[in-house]
Amino acid sequence: MINNFKNYLRSKIINNKVDKEYLVEGLSQFDKPIYQVLNIPVQRCSELMKRAFRKELKNKPRNVPVNIWFLIQFGYKKCYKCNNILQLDKFHNRKDRWHNKNDNCLDCEKNRDRIEYYTEYNQNHKEKRRKYARQYQKDNPDKFNANNAKRRANKLQATPNCITKQQLIEIEDIYWQAKETGRILGEPFHVDHIHPLSKGGLHVPWNLQILTATENLKKSNKLEVI
Ligand SMILES: [Zn+2]
Repeated sequence: MINNFKNYLRSKIINNKVDKEYLVEGLSQFDKPIYQVLNIPVQRCSELMKRAFRKELKNKPRNVPVNIWFLIQFGYKKCYKCNNILQLDKFHNRKDRWHNKNDNCLDCEKNRDRIEYYTEYNQNHKEKRRKYARQYQKDNPDKFNANNAKRRANKLQATPNCITKQQLIEIEDIYWQAKETGRILGEPFHVDHIHPLSKGGLHVPWNLQILTATENLKKSNKLEVI
């Protein structure tokens, strides 16, 4: 698009014998006002432009920059968000703008809508997610406790790097055993770190034992509970 625009301007400027290279360069750099790009006084720039584009500039509102005005005349507009210069049909109509087009292009608007949608969705579903997490904890206490212990252990860096996959499975198994024992005997069982994590103990199979809740609580008076 820029090339067509440049060619058009070039022909106009040649006919009017204006310094074409300067103006072409100025108009193709849509980020800045032309006089800044050309590094000439505003007044001089405006004279050159008026001479070359008498007809095109006749209806231009005073406060509209020349670059933007030209783009619109040629059926293009710059998106304020992505800064791409796009055809006018890539923008929604908007009555309160002099060019009757939205500031941002359709793609940028679609992205914004999507972000807003997910933010709202997340807010609405926060309670639902919490409920789900609570239910999961209730339904899978062994997994929940094993994960919880893993998280605490990681926090304390109590799981050595050299731990094997097999040993990780063993750990999960111990939590599963605690749950199953509790279910069969009708009494809650806890997994306890023999040497407590808080005292530098490791989160490894050989430092875990299954205790009844009562035993564990007795121990926790001095040490810790899971
Ligand atoms: Zn855009």
